[in-house]
Amino acid sequence: METTLHKQMQYQAWESNLDIQVFREYLRIPSVHPDVCYDECVEFLRRQAVSLDLKAEVVEVNPGKPVVIISWQGSDSAAPSIMLNSHMDVVPVYPEKWTHPPFSAHMDQEGRIYGRGSQDMKCVGVQFLAVVRALKREGVRLKRTLHLTFVPDEEIGGELGMRDFVRTDRFKELNWGFAIDEGYAIEEDVYRLFYGERYIRRANFYISGTPGHGSLLLEDTAGEKARKLLDRMMDYREMEENKLKNDRKLTIGDITTVNLTMISGGIQGNVVPPEMMLCFDIRVSNDISLEAFDAQLEKWCKESGGGIRIEHDVKNPVTAVTKLDASNPFWVAFKGAVDKMNLRVRPQINPGATDVRYLRDLGIPAIGFSPMNKTPVLLHDHDEYLHAETFLKGIDIYKEIVSAVANV
Ligand code: ZN
Repeated sequence: METTLHKQMQYQAWESNLDIQVFREYLRIPSVHPDVCYDECVEFLRRQAVSLDLKAEVVEVNPGKPVVIISWQGSDSAAPSIMLNSHMDVVPVYPEKWTHPPFSAHMDQEGRIYGRGSQDMKCVGVQFLAVVRALKREGVRLKRTLHLTFVPDEEIGGELGMRDFVRTDRFKELNWGFAIDEGYAIEEDVYRLFYGERYIRRANFYISGTPGHGSLLLEDTAGEKARKLLDRMMDYREMEENKLKNDRKLTIGDITTVNLTMISGGIQGNVVPPEMMLCFDIRVSNDISLEAFDAQLEKWCKESGGGIRIEHDVKNPVTAVTKLDASNPFWVAFKGAVDKMNLRVRPQINPGATDVRYLRDLGIPAIGFSPMNKTPVLLHDHDEYLHAETFLKGIDIYKEIVSAVANV
């Protein structure tokens, strides 16, 4: 009986917690792809700003693609500011696969809060708001200004969101020093922390060849060349896969991944087509030369018979990783806060891509970190949830870290 009562009380405590309420309210806004309407998010964030006695600025970077900035002025207005970034959009859902409707923010008896965006990454946006609320409540004044940015379209590459936002005059005016953005959940105790990302090469290989009748044995057909190219790409894939398997210190962010994602070409079964297309999603490791890698692709095209044109849908430039040493005072402060809390963290290269790459491109140091350990990795998956306690603990963790970096 007592345990039941205790559980009920705990559940009520979660339900009546303001930050959890705000979190669940945000989760109920279906800012889901495709064709996200951000109006409700903007309205929600405006209300959050009012509740914190702060102003929300909306920068309409592209039509229908607002960036919301909630700013808390620091005591030293000349000092470069801190960006606490999150994206408002979430990836699509298959509602029939969910135990609880994906935009209901249902909290079960155990405290699991279900919703698309509960891990990726409405949790983080609300935790940043909660940090400001907590610090203001305590009468704290930070040295540096905090800008909580809420951006659109991260899940589809951020072109009309963060990429274009960083090109605006308004962005430059805000005088950035350091940024914190998303990481992701981890089942282990050790938190992941991301200081760089791999380079994306989304490459379409247009393979030309001799066209003709399907009954003949023509030379230099697109199909033959495609096979040779595919072999080279897949051999490389296997080599990288073995590298990862044979070295326990490596993570997937440390190697180059290659995946065949699309094949197209041809119009009729007995006609040898003049062109075929293979698309590969390639994520190039940070420690190899991009120039050499691109040259290698061209070489493989030649070896496969030539007449192969590469068109990139995505082709990231070289970007420096964020330094994790004494030369980066924000990192020193970040690490100091983490050590003070006795958190175990493992810095690594993010195997995926997030909006921070646009900041690092400009030389702004940035760390991807979502304080969710002992949590199943459910970003983009069915039944995405975050435990209420993990969410609340995350606020405390961010509070230490944000205070430290904002007082550098
Ligand atoms: Zn995300």
